[in-house]
Amino acid sequence: MSTYFKSHPNKEGFFGKYGGAFLPPQLIEQFKQIEEAYMTISKSHLFISELRSIRKHYQGRPTPVYFAQRLSEMAGGSRIYLKREDLNHMGAHKLNHTMGEGLLAKYMGKKKLIAETGAGQHGVAVATAAAYFGLEAEIHMGEVDIKKEYPNVVRMKLLGAKVVPVTHGAKTLKEAVDSAFDAYLKNPDEMLFAIGSVVGPHPYPMLVRDFQRVVGIEAREQFQEMTGELPDNLVACVGGGSNAMGLFSAFLDDDVKIFGVEPAGKSFKPGEHASTLTYGSEGVIHGFNTYLLQNDKGEPAEVYSIASGLDYPGVGPEHSFLKDEGRVNYVTANDKETLEAFFTLSRVEGIIPALESAHALAYAVKLAKETHYESILVNLSGRGDKDIDLSPKNTASAKPKLLIQITKTRNPIPGFLLCEASRDS
Ligand SMILES: *Cc1c(COP(=O)(O)O)cnc(C)c1O
Repeated sequence: MSTYFKSHPNKEGFFGKYGGAFLPPQLIEQFKQIEEAYMTISKSHLFISELRSIRKHYQGRPTPVYFAQRLSEMAGGSRIYLKREDLNHMGAHKLNHTMGEGLLAKYMGKKKLIAETGAGQHGVAVATAAAYFGLEAEIHMGEVDIKKEYPNVVRMKLLGAKVVPVTHGAKTLKEAVDSAFDAYLKNPDEMLFAIGSVVGPHPYPMLVRDFQRVVGIEAREQFQEMTGELPDNLVACVGGGSNAMGLFSAFLDDDVKIFGVEPAGKSFKPGEHASTLTYGSEGVIHGFNTYLLQNDKGEPAEVYSIASGLDYPGVGPEHSFLKDEGRVNYVTANDKETLEAFFTLSRVEGIIPALESAHALAYAVKLAKETHYESILVNLSGRGDKDIDLSPKNTASAKPKLLIQITKTRNPIPGFLLCEASRDS
């Protein structure tokens, strides 16, 4: 079983021509050590049983697969099922790999996890793992993002992490990456760089995928138990691509149609979306070769998504490979469709999805309408409590920002807009 999985990436960390490790000379030895340590522990009985125990008793795994009956009836056509990663500890799939990275750091005798964060979700997941393992956490974050995403800064500090404000350039994610990397370069022996998705130089795209694979392995078994068969379709959103690879990697050798959903944002003009695989071209970013949204100078382009976890100009190298192979279909959902899915799932199922996950849902609903009697398994990568934007300004008038936007932009579910409108007035 699983012939694809065993042979990808190759020994040099390539998925076809994508991936690899383009590193400054002083880090080559470090990354070799990380790879060796990972290869050793991933075969160790002790490591595997400790990770299993963490997943079960701390993270609350396995997360359920749920048949979204009312959503399916509303869509008409095919049946939609949700893999409930929103029920994972801290409310998203991210802990699946940060706990693995924490365990790896422990095994390697490191004192600290270091990472950058944009919206703060990855920073919180790293801070959680560090607290669990008794490691220090140092999270670099742009000053602009610190102001914008303040609740996550509070969470990181509560969890005992040191948040380092980055004050140069645009003061957002790109500068935070540079800043964390500089700090890491100064003292790589003491810390492990905790990368937040299936991106970065080898071995990260492989090890993050392997840690996320639990999502697909569980879902495969649960779905078969529920229905007696495999799903006809898989759908997951793609930012860097970790929740998608987690689900997809357990089904790549099967006769299952697979869809990765990228954020189409406001439009397909440069700077207004982050559909890397749909509109990008080959290039090197953050130490690996992949599809990339680039500007005229060949630098990573400005990108945008309503979901802050999806606005990355690159994408995991394995997705680039699976696109070229034609094994996975990469499609898009725009902000408007995403918001519609966000509100619909909340209303008809009582599940508030993360805006990232709502991209996958939006496409799944479309697919359900276009097909008949098929099954669609969606990775609900996280919960949406973080997205209701209850900043002081908004709570003063008791109107979350999104509700105001939505009444202007979306086609209502019958009976829904009326209800919102009356609340607003
Ligand atoms: C961070 C995040 C994502 C995007 O990351 P991937 O590596 O593409 O999975 C998706 N969903 C949620 C809920 C997230 O927090």
